[in-house]
Amino acid sequence: MKPLEELTRPNIWNLKPYSSARDEYKGITASVFLDANENPYNAPTNRYPDPLQWDLKHELARIKKTQPENIFLGNGSDEAIDLVFRAFCEPGVDNVVAIDPTYGMYQVCADVNNVEYRKVLLNNDFQFSADELIAATDNHTKLLFLCSPNNPTGNDLLRSEIEKIINGFEGLVILDEAYNDFSKAPSFIEELDKYPNLVILQTFSKAWASAGIRLGMAFASTDIINILNKIKYPYNVNQLTQQQGMEILHKYYEIERWVKTLIEERKTLMKDFAKLKVVEKVYPSDANFFLAKVTDASKIYNYLVGEGIIVRNRNNIALCGNCLRITVGTRVENNKLIETLKQFHML
Ligand SMILES: *Cc1c(COP(=O)(O)O)cnc(C)c1O
Repeated sequence: MKPLEELTRPNIWNLKPYSSARDEYKGITASVFLDANENPYNAPTNRYPDPLQWDLKHELARIKKTQPENIFLGNGSDEAIDLVFRAFCEPGVDNVVAIDPTYGMYQVCADVNNVEYRKVLLNNDFQFSADELIAATDNHTKLLFLCSPNNPTGNDLLRSEIEKIINGFEGLVILDEAYNDFSKAPSFIEELDKYPNLVILQTFSKAWASAGIRLGMAFASTDIINILNKIKYPYNVNQLTQQQGMEILHKYYEIERWVKTLIEERKTLMKDFAKLKVVEKVYPSDANFFLAKVTDASKIYNYLVGEGIIVRNRNNIALCGNCLRITVGTRVENNKLIETLKQFHML
């Protein structure tokens, strides 16, 4: 890995961050707070929240077997994705490399920040070659994006190739594990100490059933986490979200039950799906969704919309011609989808 100073934009490396009232006084023994121009009425939301969300990070660190200092929390993992561009990529100069197809936000953030986005097509098994990805990098490549299980393809990327990338690439590897809870593959968080150039993204939005509170996580070396903390909005995770995040962590047993149920439902739904006349291929999945090739994706998508059922049409995505992406729902929802699709050929 190149030294972090070389990977960071000079203006960010030299930045003196905004210091909020809650940064300057961190103690808890005081009882009179007249430092932040808050209104003394309407407790508890009258107070600014903890800018670094320490309570939540301590609880998370316990569950994820890491240290609170290795965690960044943001307004969804989308915030972390945007921040790595702003911290490390000089607009109009630097570039990033990513597998294709993958999660659309990487390219959107690249475009917003005027950073060249280099795509390397997956093979027909939706896997990648580390050598090919590294061949697409140059001296200005700061970030390399991997997503495992990948969205929209649903499969885990090969661990040996992921390791080859982390070991072989001189910049930062952003490994998006948004769907890791649904996979048998262990998270790379366990390996974080081995890899100073690794940034792992996870989220409260999928297995943790909390998309509405907007809470995402990044796990990385303390040096990288400190850079992200330096440039984030001072109070990027609001009080209500911090509280609700804590509540879901206290119900971790519930998350484990949901995940187990959804994996069972995935198996049933994929088996039923494969038998449908309109379905040509169901791709293997390690996530809470799967990709299926159908006879006519747009026609079937529109038919389902008319029946009040919304799936994702991925027809226009690389390697996904005539593919629909199906999220696994409840048994009742999944059955409704299957029964509705059985009616399609009769129209
Ligand atoms: C859904 C998803 C996310 C989650 O984004 P949030 O901003 O945390 O809701 C991140 N990465 C991938 C690949 C996703 O599919």
